[in-house]
Amino acid sequence: MALDTATLMTVATGITGLLGVFLLLLWIQERNVRALAWWCAAYLFGASAVTFWSTWKPGSLLVAELPNALLFVACGMIWTGARLFHGRSVRPAWALAGAVLWLGAVQIPDIGGSAQGRVVLSSLVVAPYAFMTAFDLGRERRRELAASFRSLVIPLMHGAVFLAPVPIGLKLASDSSADGVFALFALEIMLYVVGTAFIVVLMAKERVVLVHRTAAMTDPLTGLYNRRAFMEAANLMVSRRKRQLQPVSVLLFDLDHFKSINDRFGHAVGDDALQVFAKVAVASTRATDVIGRLGGEEFAAFIPGNISDATVVAERVRTAFQTAGKEISGHAMGATVSIGAASGIPPVEVGVLLARADAALYRAKELGRNRLELAVDAMELPDGAAQPAPPVGAPAAALR
Ligand code: GH3
Ligand code: MG
Ligand code: MG
Repeated sequence: MALDTATLMTVATGITGLLGVFLLLLWIQERNVRALAWWCAAYLFGASAVTFWSTWKPGSLLVAELPNALLFVACGMIWTGARLFHGRSVRPAWALAGAVLWLGAVQIPDIGGSAQGRVVLSSLVVAPYAFMTAFDLGRERRRELAASFRSLVIPLMHGAVFLAPVPIGLKLASDSSADGVFALFALEIMLYVVGTAFIVVLMAKERVVLVHRTAAMTDPLTGLYNRRAFMEAANLMVSRRKRQLQPVSVLLFDLDHFKSINDRFGHAVGDDALQVFAKVAVASTRATDVIGRLGGEEFAAFIPGNISDATVVAERVRTAFQTAGKEISGHAMGATVSIGAASGIPPVEVGVLLARADAALYRAKELGRNRLELAVDAMELPDGAAQPAPPVGAPAAALR
């Protein structure tokens, strides 16, 4: 198959420009994904650079090299978008380094004056950008972005393919075979721009879905799970621990005399106290524990473990909050928390456990607040048989 370089270049430019417009429209819809703006600009920039390439009638050597340099700036912009997408900083010097290197190196007659030299040099400029893009897109450690893996493949392939002409370029004897290499380049550029656009669009879409999902699950004041997300996560834990009949526990927290805190220090300081409690609760629990704000000044923790495990966690939270609540936002507050705890063996219902913990919490309030009370009713076994609850206030070791 004969590949005509000029035609391929025209098609590649057209496709790149169209994809740039497509990314622009997408960015207008999803303005908070800033990386989209960079990718869209890179595509439009790249397409105009190649258009210049074919139409530009150069005056001086430096000006003649501008279209190439702009193309390498576009590569740097794609890489910058990848960095921004994962919350990393823009590195302008590195993003421009390829273009600067090109402009400098082509002044050397042996490089700038020979087709092979130019092929090798452009490969050496583009491939590192492709590898760095792959590296930065792949550095995402959180597994929620399923597109991360896909986002690696094309830039890596691109980097590899762009490096391939280096040995070929070094061996090329005639300009006609250099033309063949250019045709391959054009084909590769086309595959790359289309593939990359697909990937960035997928990643941006996944990001938007994730942001919406997180917002729907999170309590805006404390950043904890809201009631719905808490119930979902607790139910998930119950179903995971069902097979091994491993116990689960719930802790229900209610801040003491919170109405009076609001009345004495104002609602905003009350909000600060809620945030302090959320921090303390997160710091005093494990990553496997589920913590949520059920509403107002009521929080809950769902713990993989029995009532003695729950007792340890509850006491840790209670004493930590007693310390942290002494002074909040410069006010001598003396904030404390009362806790009710209940345990059960799956398939116990989360709602049932919460009701038991609520009854225990009620007792904790009655008995003077700033204390933990355990549910008195029997722990539920899967066959419906009952097992007596451990005695209230029993030491943790005796409860296992
Ligand atoms: P108790 O020790 O019996 O729990 O007393 P309490 O005052 O904490 O009990 P109550 O449930 O009557 O009061 C809860 C208060 O929490 C009432 C409400 O104004 C306040 N509250 C609920 N949500 C928020 C919030 O988001 N921010 C602030 N600052 N206050 C809130
Ligand atoms: Mg309350
Ligand atoms: Mg309260």
